[in-house]
Amino acid sequence: MRTRRQHRLWLAGGAILLVAAACETAVTPQQQAARRASSWPPPNDRRVVLLAIDGPRYSETFGDPLHEHVPGMWDTLRPMGTLCSNFKNLGITNTNPGHGTVLTGAWQYIDNEGVTRVPYPTLFEYYRKVSGTAASDAVLIAGKLKFNALTYSTHPDYGAAYGASSYLDIPYDLETYDRLIQQLDQNSPHLVMCSFSDVDQAGHSGVWSDYLRAIEVVDSLIVLTWNHLQADPDYAGKTYMFVTADHGRHDDAHGGFQSHGDSCDGCQHIPFLVLGPNIRQGHEVTSLYTQRDICLTVGQILGIPTPYSAGLLMQPIFEQPTGVLH
Ligand SMILES: [Zn+2]
Ligand SMILES: [Zn+2]
Repeated sequence: MRTRRQHRLWLAGGAILLVAAACETAVTPQQQAARRASSWPPPNDRRVVLLAIDGPRYSETFGDPLHEHVPGMWDTLRPMGTLCSNFKNLGITNTNPGHGTVLTGAWQYIDNEGVTRVPYPTLFEYYRKVSGTAASDAVLIAGKLKFNALTYSTHPDYGAAYGASSYLDIPYDLETYDRLIQQLDQNSPHLVMCSFSDVDQAGHSGVWSDYLRAIEVVDSLIVLTWNHLQADPDYAGKTYMFVTADHGRHDDAHGGFQSHGDSCDGCQHIPFLVLGPNIRQGHEVTSLYTQRDICLTVGQILGIPTPYSAGLLMQPIFEQPTGVLH
């Protein structure tokens, strides 16, 4: 049987525990963010994987109220990341200009046949010039051969010596995915852009059901990519995965899904989702951001300057108040 003194001690102990619990719940959001920030990887240990879906409309992806064709990204990935619901290509809504803008942070007016290289440095060049790493550390994977014009720029201070290693002209998105996983496993690159082409090819074919099916396939491949990254010690907990597009496709008032290339909202409004260590979870940014803003944002994540980028830092995607720089 408990004595009176033991009982008092027991009560006192309980009170201390209650006080301790109260102190724990009194931690401010800023303190919580600072604690998490202390476990974020340093810039030189961070990885960035940029996934581009070639030519999906917003209305069949994140803009569909039922999200019928993107269940993986919507239900599985979105709660772990930040969605930008007003993200646009305000330049030329074609493949090489769109991807070129993402890589350089400046609107690109290059041709769409792969003849002209971008005049401004790409992220690959910015990264390799500072890091001094081999080409295998910055990788471009794409279904279309014309991406050869995006591996490096014609800028005199950068160029081929700092370009990406590339794997192009891949017939199907399933094979593009296999090549991406192979690169992640073999070379553990710090910087990857991978562009999936099937949605665009299916759209140009004019077969609506094929176009939707291609969106569903790439949706599942993007979830598989994130799961693969989280199962790999080289990437888990230190990788930022961006999902976006080079352009959309005409809305129904401007010619419909079969083509693209003008400034209608269907062509300009594109998906954007990002996940990573200090990316806000389950968050939606509704203010306007554009393709130009990815380059500077990736540069800040990797701790590298991107002096020719004209874009903005996408600060609202990061946990506040510490932001990306810590
Ligand atoms: Zn395209
Ligand atoms: Zn259009």
